Amino acid sequence: AAMVKETIRVYARVKPLGRRQQAAIYSVDNDGTALSSLEIVMPRELADGFVNNKRESYKFKFQKIFDQEEKQDVVFDSIAKPVAECVLAGYNGTIFAYGQTGSGKTFTITGGAERYSDRGIIPRTLSYVFNKLQKDSSKVYTTHVSYLEIYNECGYDLLDPRHEASRLEDLPKVTIMEDADQNIHLKNLSLQQASNEEEALNLLFLGDTNRMIAETPMNQASSRSHCIFTLHISSKEPGSATLRRSKLHLVDLAGSERVAKTGVGGHLLTEAKYINLSLHYLEQVIIALAEKNRSHIPYRNSMMTSVLRDSLGGNCMTTMIATLSIDKRNIEESISTCRFAQRVALIKNEAVLNEEIDPRLLIVQLQKEIQELKDELALLTGKQITSELSQEELLQLDELIETFLEDNDPDSTLDVGADTRKIKYCFVRVKQLMKHSTMSDKKLLSQHISEEKDSNKEAAEEELKKLKELLQQRDNEINILVNMLKKEKKKSQDALFQLNAASAGSTSLEQSLPLHLEESQSPSCCLKEEKDSRSPVHSLPFLSRQ
Ligand code: ADP
Ligand code: MG
Repeated sequence: AAMVKETIRVYARVKPLGRRQQAAIYSVDNDGTALSSLEIVMPRELADGFVNNKRESYKFKFQKIFDQEEKQDVVFDSIAKPVAECVLAGYNGTIFAYGQTGSGKTFTITGGAERYSDRGIIPRTLSYVFNKLQKDSSKVYTTHVSYLEIYNECGYDLLDPRHEASRLEDLPKVTIMEDADQNIHLKNLSLQQASNEEEALNLLFLGDTNRMIAETPMNQASSRSHCIFTLHISSKEPGSATLRRSKLHLVDLAGSERVAKTGVGGHLLTEAKYINLSLHYLEQVIIALAEKNRSHIPYRNSMMTSVLRDSLGGNCMTTMIATLSIDKRNIEESISTCRFAQRVALIKNEAVLNEEIDPRLLIVQLQKEIQELKDELALLTGKQITSELSQEELLQLDELIETFLEDNDPDSTLDVGADTRKIKYCFVRVKQLMKHSTMSDKKLLSQHISEEKDSNKEAAEEELKKLKELLQQRDNEINILVNMLKKEKKKSQDALFQLNAASAGSTSLEQSLPLHLEESQSPSCCLKEEKDSRSPVHSLPFLSRQ
């Protein structure tokens, strides 16, 4: 299968500042080389809190940085469109947003509700994908949507219709199952069919509504939960047995804010801990993946890392968006988000084309291919090839074999044409004949070998003898006829000679004589051509009757 090996692409997006916010000192360098760089300057008073306070400026590399004024369509075009293309081609894809609460993760992934132009990556991707699928009539597509929320290590199906009536805790929990091939399956997560953009959007809205219902002011679920919207696409060319399946995960992670460990003054950035435990496990997985020669990756530690297992260091084209809320108070969080992003950028994924063969379809396909080959063969040979050779054909072959075996000319060949059934038959027949001849040799030495066994063979020999006699008889007949014709020719030549002598006229009669009997000196060789109706010799038996 086709395989694409590449590192996870990491982008940064800076949220516009609010009216009362004060911008931190940062600069974006987007032009020049393949990567862009973001520089964040730590103000003196903050840097003073560090053990090593000489570092004031932090530089981070990104695939591209979207500064405050960049709009949703631009973000979609450069981040999501390439991933959507991969998913359409049969690869898995993931886009995840990482950043502190309020930095623009949900705005980037889902979008803002106020303006249509604020639509985020999910609705734009759905629109793009369904538009592409509709235009492509070369394949049959099936599309499904699932929407999973992970809160406190528990999974919830956001598309579960019972959501509205029940509390989050009362809903059936989505659990992880692992099969023998270590593939992850999610129990209790529904896959809803969505045949077009509208159906998929309705499911997205349903999920987002359920997401808000679960949220109360006391329980800031949205900042503590991870939401994974997944589009499942399977495609098949008509008549093909190959099925392609791909998944596109669009992930809105929990807020990445950390709390400083109390009592450890100074080591603010390095010692801070995530509020969200599963982000801690995510970071551990990222660290393990970024390290060379690490054989064990702790995916199993949390539900989120298990679900995203393929997206991190696996079979997936993965993109991360680091969202930054770059006002003065958020400098530490912004720096730690960027640090996390730099580690993620080191991870290599191997995206493999997800193809599988449907055995039932394969059989149908092979049967069709056999019929096509048969038809082609029939066209080439001018004969309808059945699996069995006819009785007539077998007799003809026997004849050919015999002629071949009896021919002492070392250059003689046995030509049965390009028909494997005939070639096979000839080999079998020659083998039989060889066995028979060695058998009869043995018989001479040891007469006691049971006679009944050979009764069939004897009948065949009897038949052969008869045929040989018949052949001899025909040869004789032909010889007689040839002689007769020669005499006739002589007579007519004599008559001509006399005619010519009488009136020195034309020789046209001589030329029009069609018989070239001299060429047919061996009558038995003529027999071979008897099948050919155009052969002049064919009319000989008819002549003899005359
Ligand atoms: P998060 O999901 O990371 O907690 P949100 O996406 O909810 O953050 O963003 C917080 C607020 O900022 C929301 O009101 C959102 O509409 C607004 N916002 C975020 N990013 C942008 C942006 N690029 N342009 C305009 N408004 C934004
Ligand atoms: Mg959010």
